[in-house]
Amino acid sequence: MNNMKTLDIENNICIEFDAVSSNEALARVVIASFITVLNPTLDEIEDIKTAISEAVTNAIVHGYGRDYFKLSGNKEKGKVTLKASIDNDGLLSVDVCDCGVGIKDVEEAMKPSFTSDDTGERSGMGFAFMQAFMDEVKVDSVPGRGTVVHMSKQMEYHRTKIDILRTNTIRDNTSQTDTSRIDTSLQLALWNSDGRI
Ligand code: ATP
Ligand code: MG
Repeated sequence: MNNMKTLDIENNICIEFDAVSSNEALARVVIASFITVLNPTLDEIEDIKTAISEAVTNAIVHGYGRDYFKLSGNKEKGKVTLKASIDNDGLLSVDVCDCGVGIKDVEEAMKPSFTSDDTGERSGMGFAFMQAFMDEVKVDSVPGRGTVVHMSKQMEYHRTKIDILRTNTIRDNTSQTDTSRIDTSLQLALWNSDGRI
């Protein structure tokens, strides 16, 4: 049984923050809290937080790096915008946008181990992590104007014990709900959206 269609979970957020490294943690917390409506597993939360954090770090470190201040003459901190949406089918879409230096060759930048960093601190794996942890990653960038990283992931809605009790009660409202089948937290952790373990 696919119960995704019955969910009323559509939601959209858009937040803008300064391009400072302390806001990488903010973006991680925001996205983790945004997806809680889907009852994600700890692994799913970690994957999504990592992907979003890599894109935000890139915006801060590369988009608004030294070159940005040199080329633009700007003195103020840049801004990063995080947009996220969940539709009623559980599709998570995230855009991480900056108005920084942009990327000249997106294809090259997305190759694993490519980095323009010359300090030895970066390994060039940010885009590879985004691609590994999300279903789709697309990058739009205009040199001198900025970059938008679009990511999406089809999420699975993990039913909670309360959902299961409700469903069972609705299915058979003449008999008692059989809670004995669902009384271990291990079972709950393993239940997928089809109600199978
Ligand atoms: P790591 O993520 O492993 O610390 P990295 O940031 O260099 O290293 P990627 O995240 O894969 O590796 O990014 C590859 C390259 O793409 C960067 O070195 C940078 O040149 C460019 N890049 C990525 N995001 C942006 C951005 N928002 N603005 C400008 N350049 C970017
Ligand atoms: Mg990176």
